[in-house]
Amino acid sequence: MQLLLKGGRLVDPPTGRDEALDILIHDGRIERTGTNLSASAAQVIELKGKIIAPGFIDMHVHFREPGFEYKESIASGCAAAAAGGFTAVCCMPNTNPPIDDESIVHFIHARARVALGGLVNVYPIGAVTAGRKGEHLAPLAELAAAGAVGFSDDGDPVHDAELMRRALEYSTMFKRPIIQHAQDPALTKGGVANEGYPSASLGLPPIPRVGEEIMIARDIRLAEYTGGQYHAAHVSVAETLDHIRNAKAKGLHVTCEVTPHHFTMTDDALSTFDTNTKMNPPLRTREDVEAMKAGLKEGVIDVIATDHAPHSYDEKEVEFAQAPFGIIGLETALGLAVTELVRKNILSLYQLVEKLSTNPRQLLHLPPIAVAEGEQANLTLFDPAAEWIVDPSSFKSRARNTPFGGTRLWGKPIGILNNGLALWC
Ligand SMILES: [Zn+2]
Repeated sequence: MQLLLKGGRLVDPPTGRDEALDILIHDGRIERTGTNLSASAAQVIELKGKIIAPGFIDMHVHFREPGFEYKESIASGCAAAAAGGFTAVCCMPNTNPPIDDESIVHFIHARARVALGGLVNVYPIGAVTAGRKGEHLAPLAELAAAGAVGFSDDGDPVHDAELMRRALEYSTMFKRPIIQHAQDPALTKGGVANEGYPSASLGLPPIPRVGEEIMIARDIRLAEYTGGQYHAAHVSVAETLDHIRNAKAKGLHVTCEVTPHHFTMTDDALSTFDTNTKMNPPLRTREDVEAMKAGLKEGVIDVIATDHAPHSYDEKEVEFAQAPFGIIGLETALGLAVTELVRKNILSLYQLVEKLSTNPRQLLHLPPIAVAEGEQANLTLFDPAAEWIVDPSSFKSRARNTPFGGTRLWGKPIGILNNGLALWC
């Protein structure tokens, strides 16, 4: 089985290349690269004006298996990832049972191997604390040995400073980041919306921005004290970025990610009472959205990750205060990023690929993807100019909880290649 990718533009941050390149693939391996390649037996994919990138990874998704398969299974989640142009994802441990035991890591690997034939790599993130209860550490070494690529109690913060300290210290032994859902629970408890005019006028219990900032500031001090590796999940307020910027300037091993909804939407959207505008951290202000964009451009924000959080229709079809937090994101991430960032000259396509592929792989200590002869093809192909309207009914995800239905976007995946397989979107 030969495949000839013809006339595409390779955007490849690991080698610094940004050039037109033909790629001949044989049985999932890159056989030849060059210009004006031909192969009589090959299926030819014309990619003029289209982008070839090392495979995208979404380092923050919630696949609900085991425990809540009615929301999303590993199979349906992998289908959503592939449709969104991702060849890999990292799944968070707030399942039931949680990923706090090596057997759950093996279970997820086994499920991922049979989802779409193993097209999408699923990298489990282990829990920081046993049962995600915040009381004592999970068996981090055992989880890492089984294949957990990082640790997080995401959905909840690791709020005990002593536990965070131990986790940061301990995880340096096996080179895994501690990924924090940064929120001081004492400050944010009971809140459902950003503290501000919209929450006050709508009568929604507030989540103050300082709740995020305080936890980030504390954790950065602990990362400095221990020399540990710290990654802040889904940053949402401008002040957080000041702390991250300072940490990086000091040379600490501190990174962060932002979701597409936090660089796209503000808490003004809450006036619709649409429960698909309820997420955690909440939508913030216009100034915060602008700060997220500036942070991406400057490089303070390393990664774009979706926080893909599937819920069933019934669960979201309730009063705002009662609805669960979160929206799905895998199938709209590329379109939102191209529309909001690339077309508005916040990021170049090269920088976009860094944030969707190179940077997350690097901070997770995954080997860089080599687009080179003899290497396995792990590629995301996309059309940055394709215009489309989001239609949740066509999603591969089992869930439909998105506020972006009906939105016009630019930038669409064409297909992915990984593990000897290909899928065309
Ligand atoms: Zn979270």
